[in-house]
Amino acid sequence: MDTPGLPRTMRAMVLERPGTPLRLREAPVPAPAPGQVLVRVRACGVCRTDLHVADGELPDPKLPLVPGHEVVGTVVAKGDGVEGFAEGDRVGVPWLGWTCGTCRYCRRGQENLCENARFTGYTLDGGYAEYAVADARYAFPVPGAYGDVEAAPLLCAGLIGYRTYRLAKESLGRAPERVGIYGFGAAGHLVAQVAAAEGAAVYAFTREGDAEGQAFARRLGAAWAGASTEAPPEPLDAALLFAPVGALVPAALKAVDRGGAVVSGGIHMSDVPSIPYRLLWEERTLRSVANLTRRDGLDFLALAPRVPVRTETTAYPLEAANEALADLRDGRLTGAAVLMP
Ligand SMILES: [Zn+2]
Ligand SMILES: [Zn+2]
Repeated sequence: MDTPGLPRTMRAMVLERPGTPLRLREAPVPAPAPGQVLVRVRACGVCRTDLHVADGELPDPKLPLVPGHEVVGTVVAKGDGVEGFAEGDRVGVPWLGWTCGTCRYCRRGQENLCENARFTGYTLDGGYAEYAVADARYAFPVPGAYGDVEAAPLLCAGLIGYRTYRLAKESLGRAPERVGIYGFGAAGHLVAQVAAAEGAAVYAFTREGDAEGQAFARRLGAAWAGASTEAPPEPLDAALLFAPVGALVPAALKAVDRGGAVVSGGIHMSDVPSIPYRLLWEERTLRSVANLTRRDGLDFLALAPRVPVRTETTAYPLEAANEALADLRDGRLTGAAVLMP
C-alpha cells in the first residue's frame, strides 16, 4: 500500500534477541492489511511485560520485534473492511491483538484465554515506533479526558489492574472493604483509585524501605502503606499482586481474612515458595489473571474518566526505551513510564 502523505520509513526501537538492548532502527512503515488500521503512535506505555519479553522470560516472541502494548495514536490509514474507526480518530491498542473466535475458549466468551491469540508487542509488532498497525476490532476509542501520555498506562496497567480487581470481586462475591495492593506501580496506582472510589480502604505494599513509593500511595488515598514483609493492621478481604515476586503469594495469603481472595495480575513471576495448607484453608482463594477481554477494555475505559482515574507518568523520548526499561527494572519509577515517538 502506498498512502499519500505518509513516509516510507519510520524510527522504531527493535528487540533483535532477548537479553540484548533494543536497537534504534529505520524500518518500513507497515501497511494495514484488511481489517487493520495504521496508527501514528503518539505515546506508548512501558509495561513490566515488555521487560519480561526483552529479558527472555516469555517464550517465543516474534523476532525482530517492536515491543509495546499500551499504544495511543491517531488512525492515518485503514485496510479494507475496517468498521468503526475513521482517519483522524484517536485509538488505543492493547496487549490482546487478535483472537481466533473459534477455539473452545473464544466460543465461551473467554477470548483472553484463546489458544491462538496474538499479542501486541510480543507476537505482533507494537508501539515502540512512530507507526503501528492494529486489528481494528481489538482497538479501543480513547476517552477524551486524557492526553496521549496520560492515556497510555490505562491500556495495560489500567486494564489488567481492573480485571485483577474484578476477579477478586468475583471470588469474594462482593466488593471488598479492604484491598491490599502488592507492588504499587503502574497497575497498582490505577486500580487503587478504582477500589477507593467504590468505597474500599486501600492497603499499599511496596519494597522494603521504599519510603517514596509509600508516600505516593498515601498521596493517592491509601489508608495504610508499608513494606510487603509487614502484616497489615487489619486482615484484608482481597490482595492484588502486581510485583513479579512469588514470595508475595504466601505473604498475601497470610494477610487476607477467612474467605479472602488473592489475585495475581502479572504474566510472569518468580517461583512461589511452598506453603502450609493452613494459609489457603478457610476458603481463601488464589488465582491469576491472564490477558484481557475486549469487554474489560471497553468497561474500564468507560469507567476511568468517571472515577476519575488519574495516571502518574514519566515521559521518555522513543530512543530512550532502554533507559525507561532499566528504570522500571530497578524500581526507580513513580507511576508509569511512557515513550513519546
Ligand atoms: Zn480462540
Ligand atoms: Zn502490559
